[in-house]
Amino acid sequence: METNQATLAALLSEMGANLADYAGKDITSTSPIDGQVLAVLRADNADQVKAKIDRAHAAFLQWRNVPAPRRGELVRLFGEELRLHKEALGKLVTLEAGKILQEGLGEVQEMIDICDFAVGLSRQLYGLTIASERPGHRMMEVWHPLGVVGVISAFNFPVAVWAWNAALAFVCGNSVTWKPSEKTPLTAVAVHALFQKAVARFGSDAPVGLAELIIGDREAGSQMVNDKRVPLVSATGSTRMGRQVAQDCATRLAKTILELGGNNAMIVAPSADLEMAVRAITFSAVGTAGQRCTTLRRLFVHDSVYDTLVPRLKKVYAGLPIGSPLQKSTLIGPLIDHAAFDCMQTALAAARAEQGQVFGGERVAVAGSEGGYYVQPALVEMPAQSNVMQHETFAPILYIVRYTDLQQAIALNNDVPQGLSSSIFTTDVREAERFMSDSGSDCGIANVNIGPSGAEIGGAFGGEKETGGGRESGSDAWKAYMRRSTNTINYSDSLPLAQGISFDI
Ligand code: NAD
Repeated sequence: METNQATLAALLSEMGANLADYAGKDITSTSPIDGQVLAVLRADNADQVKAKIDRAHAAFLQWRNVPAPRRGELVRLFGEELRLHKEALGKLVTLEAGKILQEGLGEVQEMIDICDFAVGLSRQLYGLTIASERPGHRMMEVWHPLGVVGVISAFNFPVAVWAWNAALAFVCGNSVTWKPSEKTPLTAVAVHALFQKAVARFGSDAPVGLAELIIGDREAGSQMVNDKRVPLVSATGSTRMGRQVAQDCATRLAKTILELGGNNAMIVAPSADLEMAVRAITFSAVGTAGQRCTTLRRLFVHDSVYDTLVPRLKKVYAGLPIGSPLQKSTLIGPLIDHAAFDCMQTALAAARAEQGQVFGGERVAVAGSEGGYYVQPALVEMPAQSNVMQHETFAPILYIVRYTDLQQAIALNNDVPQGLSSSIFTTDVREAERFMSDSGSDCGIANVNIGPSGAEIGGAFGGEKETGGGRESGSDAWKAYMRRSTNTINYSDSLPLAQGISFDI
C-alpha cells in the first residue's frame, strides 16, 4: 500500500494536483491492483454542486463571446500539458482503474488526439447557406454555443471520456461540469489540475468556472442532471444509469448524449485470415480485463473454421500473462472490484445452466496483490445464443456460437438489446459489404478485419438501441454541443411571404 501511495503522491505532485484541496471522508479511491485504499476524498454537498454549476453558467456567458479559434488555443495548450504529463497521467490511470500501462498511456494519447481534432475544428464550425424561395432573400444556418455541458463518466475510461466531450464543448463555446465515477476520482483531480495549468497559460479571457469538477456519487450526478442550467448532459456508463438520466432530462426537455452498455460481437467467416482473427479476438475480448464498452463478448464462428479457431484460441488464452498492470509483461490486469468478480461468476454459472462449456474464468492469485481481483479470462462455448448472452457482464467472458449461414450470423449479431460495436473477419468482399449494408449489423460501429474495440477519435463514436444513440468524438459529433439557428434575411424592398401566402393589410 505504501508503495502505491508514494507513487500516487509523486504523480499528483508532478501534475500539480493538490489532494489536500479534496481531503474528506466520503469517497474512497481504491486501487484495483491490490484492493488497498489510495485516498479518501470529500463529496460535494448539494450547495457546493449548485455553486459549481452557478460558476460554470457564469463562465459560459463570457466564453461564448470568445472567438472559436481563440477557444481552440486553450484546447491546444491543454493538449500540450497532456503531452508533457502523458506518463504520469497514464500511470495514474493504471493505479486507480487497473488498466495495464500501455492502455493507460493509450487513454491519455486519445485525449491528446481529441485536443488536436478540436483545435482544427475550432476553425471549422461550418454552417450552411440555403436557397430561399423568395426573391431578395437569403437563408443561412449557423451554430451557436449551447451552455453548460454536464459530463458523467464511468470508471473504465476515467479520463478519455471527459476529454472527448470537453475538448469539443470548449471549442464550441460551452463550459463543462464533470461528475466522474466515484471509483476513479483521483484521475479526475489530476486532469482538472492539468486543465488549470493550460488556463493559467492561456490568459484572462478563460473565465473562472469554465471547467468544474464535481466529486460525488450518483446523487451529485443526479443533481447536475436535474439542473435546468445544464442544457446538455453527456452520460457514459451502464444502461441502468442512462435510462434514469434520459428520464430526468426528458422531464425538463434537455438534450442528452448517452453512451451506455455494449454487447459486441464478431463474425468469423470461412475465408477469414485466422491468424489475424485470433489476435484481434484476444485483444478485443481480454484487453482492459474485458471492461471496455466495446469489449468483444460474443463470437460467431463459421462451422468450417470452428474446430481450427477455437482450440487455437484456448491455447492463446492459456498462456495470457495475468498480473499487476504496473508490470511491463502483463497483458491482463485486475477487475475493478469484488462486485465485478461476483458478476462474472454469476454470469458463468448462468452460462453453465444454459449448457455452456466454460474454459477459464477462475480467480488468479497474484503475489503481492492479494486484495486484487485477477481472473483467467473465460471462453464459453454455447450451443445457441441464450439468455445470458443478452446481457453485458463487465468482465472477460467470451461466448462462442457456431453458425452456418451469414444471414443467420448477422441476425444473431443484431438480436440483443445493445447496439454499440461489431465486426466481421472475412476476405470475401460480398460478405464484408453485406455486413456493413442497410440490412447488415445494426450497431453504431461495424468493422471489417479488425476487432470491435479500440476506436479512433476521428470517427463518431456511439451505438444504437440500449447503448443510447449518442455520438461523441469525431466526424460531426460537435453539432450536439451547439444550438442551430436558421436565419432568413430579406434584402429586398418588399415582404413576400413563404408558400406564396397573400396577407394584404
Ligand atoms: P455506472 O452506470 O455504474 O456509473 C457511471 C456514472 O454514472 C458514475 O459516474 C455514476 O456516479 C453515475 N450515475 C449513476 N447513476 C446515476 C444517476 N441516476 N444520475 C446521474 N449519475 C448517475 O457505470 P460504470 O460501472 O462506472 O461503468 C461501466 C458501464 O459503462 C458499462 O456498462 C460500460 O459498457 C459503460 N460504458 C459505456 C461507454 C460508451 O461509450 N458506450 C464507455 C465506457 C463505459
